[in-house]
Amino acid sequence: MPIVYIPEYINPFRFAEQHARLQGVVNIEDLKRLGLALNKQAGEVAVDVQFDIDEQGLVFLHGHLNAKVILQCQRCMGNFEYEIIDTFTYGVANTEKEVSSFPGKYDTVEAEDNLIAIRNIIEDELILSLPVVPMHVPDNCEIKMPYKDADWSEEKKSPFHILKNTLKHKSSKK
Ligand SMILES: [Zn+2]
Repeated sequence: MPIVYIPEYINPFRFAEQHARLQGVVNIEDLKRLGLALNKQAGEVAVDVQFDIDEQGLVFLHGHLNAKVILQCQRCMGNFEYEIIDTFTYGVANTEKEVSSFPGKYDTVEAEDNLIAIRNIIEDELILSLPVVPMHVPDNCEIKMPYKDADWSEEKKSPFHILKNTLKHKSSKK
């Protein structure tokens, strides 16, 4: 199957009327804002968005995305791969006025001239899914945890505490 690239803009109302689904990919290289948070801009985002009209007649979209991004570990400063799996739902409003009167059950996106910036929405979702402090899991990190000051002193302290408690326990038995 040929790769379908998600266009920058689409008409959500036409998709919703047809209960249509938009499936394809976005090149991570094309996402400049996301790129600022990455250590390397490579790979692609798999996108699957279903458009529909709800029982109140409101147009909405429900999407799923999956991407592997390269972040910089804040402990060892090395690359690490982070998988983003995200689902999102938005109501689509036609004018600015309609956005403010939209029912609370949806976050909304606003269409301009019947178009929404779908790639922008996807990029926002990816940015929101990034970890606040990217770090390897300890086993995969170049810097090993026990050498961190706080943990080191904790480790040194704890055997004595255990020993102390054991001794106490023994002496109270007498
Ligand atoms: Zn690391």
